[in-house]
Amino acid sequence: MTMPSDSSYLPRTMPPVRPDMADAEFWRHCNARRLCFQRCLACRRFTHPPSVTCPFCRSPEREWVEAPPSATLFSFTFIHYAAHDSVRASLPYNVAVVAFPECGNVRLVTNVIDAAPGDLTIGMTVFLAWECHAEGQLLPRFRLAPEAGVR
Ligand code: ZN
Repeated sequence: MTMPSDSSYLPRTMPPVRPDMADAEFWRHCNARRLCFQRCLACRRFTHPPSVTCPFCRSPEREWVEAPPSATLFSFTFIHYAAHDSVRASLPYNVAVVAFPECGNVRLVTNVIDAAPGDLTIGMTVFLAWECHAEGQLLPRFRLAPEAGVR
C-alpha cells in the first residue's frame, strides 16, 4: 500500500468534503481506501451518489459493494477558467466521469490526475489512485496506468 503523496491534483485549499447522512459511509470507505457504491437489497440496482433510500424503488435496505480498481472513461472536459480561486494555479485541469461496468455502470465524477489535454479518449480504461484532500479525507481519483500497490 502506498501512502498519499504530499502533492495533489487540485489544491487542498479547495472546500473540504462535508459528509451528510447519505454519503458519510461512502467517505468513511474512501478513508479506508475502498471505493464502494450502494446496491439496493430490494431491486439489486447500484446507485451513486449515495442516498438514504433507493431512487428506483424507495427501499431503505442498502449494502455497500467495493468497486474494482479500474473504470471506463465515460466523459471528460478540460477546465480553462477558474470557477474558484483555489484552482487558479491548476489550470487547465480535467473533470472526468468514469463508469463501473461491474457495478451496474454506476458513474463517478472525478479527475484523471496524470492526463494532459489530448491524453484522454472516451471508453479508455483508467485506474484508481487515492489522493489526500483537506482534513485528511481521501478522494478517489484516477490515472492513465495502474499505480503499484493501489487497490
Ligand atoms: Zn431499489
